[in-house]
Amino acid sequence: MDLRDPQWLDWHWQLRHRLRTAADLDAWFTLTPEQRGWIDGGGAFETGITPYFASLCRRFDPACPLARQVIPDSAEQRIASFERADPLGEDPHRRAPGVVHKYPDRVLLLVTDTCASYCRYCTRSRWVAAAPEPMGSTDLAAALDYIARTPGIRDVLVSGGDPLLLSTPRLAALLDRLAAIPHLRFVRIGTRVPVFLPMRVDADLCAALRPRRIPVFVNVHLNHPRELAAGVRDALGQLADAGVPLGGQAVLLRGINDDADTLRELFYGMLEARVRPYYLFHCDPVRGTSHLRTSVEDGLRLMGELVGRTSGMAVPKYCIDLEGGGKVPLWPSWLESIDQEAVTVTNWRGERWRYVNHPGKLENP
Ligand SMILES: *Cc1c(COP(=O)(O)O)cnc(C)c1O
Ligand code: SF4
Repeated sequence: MDLRDPQWLDWHWQLRHRLRTAADLDAWFTLTPEQRGWIDGGGAFETGITPYFASLCRRFDPACPLARQVIPDSAEQRIASFERADPLGEDPHRRAPGVVHKYPDRVLLLVTDTCASYCRYCTRSRWVAAAPEPMGSTDLAAALDYIARTPGIRDVLVSGGDPLLLSTPRLAALLDRLAAIPHLRFVRIGTRVPVFLPMRVDADLCAALRPRRIPVFVNVHLNHPRELAAGVRDALGQLADAGVPLGGQAVLLRGINDDADTLRELFYGMLEARVRPYYLFHCDPVRGTSHLRTSVEDGLRLMGELVGRTSGMAVPKYCIDLEGGGKVPLWPSWLESIDQEAVTVTNWRGERWRYVNHPGKLENP
């Protein structure tokens, strides 16, 4: 891999030169013998890392928080009893090809199984990099037909895989077709391309993401402040300059971003890149990901360390996602008790306060 390669900024070159085998990874990473065997034996899930993302990793450092997200660990072979291939129970909610309809007013539309690089904790690893990709035109027509004849849907979340790996004309055509469905109020795209493959973001892509009758929001998956390298910030800046509203979502990962300073830096870094932090997801119980997961208690403690000490703009919602039951936001509890007269709370400094509970009633009329 050569950072001076004249084709470095060509996103197709980056995809063609992804690191996939132990021999490819040797140029940049130190692998244990078990890891080498595990990767070359196929691992639990596709291996693929763009040269660009590899270049952001600390060379030959197995503890690098970026490398650990994408390099298979032989610990993936250990599967906990509560871990699942489909941890969110999405498959029973498939209503049409690629359409997961769990909530009354919004659906997930999975348009491709391909990603620029593969995250070891991927919630959809049962399907990502394994489905016939991208979705064919018959399936897509059936998916759009379901959305068009279900008037309760107001919001379509286009995901995958990574929708920004569709060609620009295909993506633009998909957004045009969604915008033509009268009951939709907005569309959003979930992507990690600006981090794994920032050279994919160009003027044509920005033009494809323009608002139609309805706006297109882009939510970027970003887990560590070091992912906000110059090229990534530049790609996000291009999107923001083009008027694309940007949100950020992170996954809480053990030994990668599970300390308050790293999370604070990540969320401030997002804001500096004009990305509004939206969700911090607890790491879903995907098969073979115990080594990457914290406890929910740790997640709540970290949220408690952010709230009040950090700009509210930099505090996302922390969520667990139930197997089939949907997302549940968790918030550390500052409420101690509540009665007719008052609520008793603890503030961010840990002081106890009482706050009146009267609904505007005058005591001495
Ligand atoms: C996360 C998710 C959504 C979007 O949820 P929001 O809380 O609105 O961001 C929609 N459908 C499914 C199936 C999801 O998992
Ligand atoms: S980018 Fe998203 S869909 Fe793709 S491997 Fe990572 S978590 Fe999974």
